[in-house]
Amino acid sequence: MKMLLHMCCGPCSAFPLKKLREMGYEPTGYFFNPNIHPYKEFMHRLETAKEFADKMNLEIITDNNYTLEEFLRSALNAANGRCSMCYELRLRQAARFAKENSYDCFTTSLLVSPYQKHEVITEIAKKVAEEENIAFVYEDFRPGWYDGVKISRDLELYRQPYCGCIFSEKERYCKAK
Ligand code: SF4
Repeated sequence: MKMLLHMCCGPCSAFPLKKLREMGYEPTGYFFNPNIHPYKEFMHRLETAKEFADKMNLEIITDNNYTLEEFLRSALNAANGRCSMCYELRLRQAARFAKENSYDCFTTSLLVSPYQKHEVITEIAKKVAEEENIAFVYEDFRPGWYDGVKISRDLELYRQPYCGCIFSEKERYCKAK
């Protein structure tokens, strides 16, 4: 099956790629994450995703669109919380891209993180899969989280200190103080 792997970043894609290859998939990576702020951080993570793909012999497609204003407006007005909006924005785009480009299915590296809202991501991915008429492959990658951390360290990849949006950056550093 031709699979699109939505990559939230390079390090988080390490274990999902390993697991998917063990399962017999050879996915194409897809980087679409306008939730990463500020712009220099976005570019840093995008370049890291490319570096990871290069080192792992993974085909990758990147979307450099940086719709900051639109994201912030949506996040501030999100009825079900900004993270649900953020997951749906990225997963819907991945599902649409997969459908439009003749992939059979998609999945996401977001499913590896014990720090993300795993059940919410799964529910949203299933919903957009149905609405966009493309299969979603669910796999709980979380047991491989530390394996993925080790792989990313061995590859000397940049590992980001906060989730992505400017709100999560504030939560990370305000809390630390
Ligand atoms: S905290 Fe993370 S998942 Fe939630 S809105 Fe920000 S970038 Fe998206």
